[in-house]
Amino acid sequence: MARRGNSIIKDLDITDIITKLNKAYADEWLAYYQYFIESKVVKGIMKDAAIAELDQHAADELRHANLVADRILQLGGTPLLNPKDWFTHTNCGYEEPKNFDVVSILEDSIKGEQCAISVYSELADLTRDKDIVTYDIVSQILADEVEHEEDLQALYDDITEFITDIKRNIN
Ligand code: FE
Ligand code: FE
Ligand code: MG
Repeated sequence: MARRGNSIIKDLDITDIITKLNKAYADEWLAYYQYFIESKVVKGIMKDAAIAELDQHAADELRHANLVADRILQLGGTPLLNPKDWFTHTNCGYEEPKNFDVVSILEDSIKGEQCAISVYSELADLTRDKDIVTYDIVSQILADEVEHEEDLQALYDDITEFITDIKRNIN
C-alpha cells in the first residue's frame, strides 16, 4: 500500500474510490469476456473486420482490468477475488450474445462502450484535482472507451450501408 502516495489524495474518501474502482474492475472483466466470446461466435457479412476489432478490444479491456487492479492495490484495497462478484458489482452488466449476427453483436458491444464511457467520465469528475493518479488512469481508459465506441459505430455504419446497397441491387 502506498502511504505518502495516499496522503496526497485530497477531500476524497479512499474507501469510496476503491469501491468504485472495483465496480469498474468487474466491468472490465465482463467486457473482456464479452469481446472474447463474441469474436468466437460472430457470423455474417464482413465478419473478419469485426473479429479484428473485437479481438483488439478484448486485449484493451484486459489491459484496463490490469491498470484498475494495480490502482486498487496502491490505494490499499483488494481487487474482487471471486468472478461471482463481477456480477454483483458491475455497472454495465454482461450482454450474453443471443444472436450471433455481426450487426447484433456490434449493437451489444456499442451499448457496453457507452456505459463504460459514462462510468469513466464519472470517475474522472470524482477524482479531478483530488486524486491525480487515479484521475490519470481513468482518463487514459476513458480515451480508449471513446475510441472503442467510435470504431464499433464506424464498422456498424459500414456494414449496414453495405447491406442496404446489396438489397438495392437485388431489387
Ligand atoms: Fe475498458
Ligand atoms: Fe471498451
Ligand atoms: Mg478498435
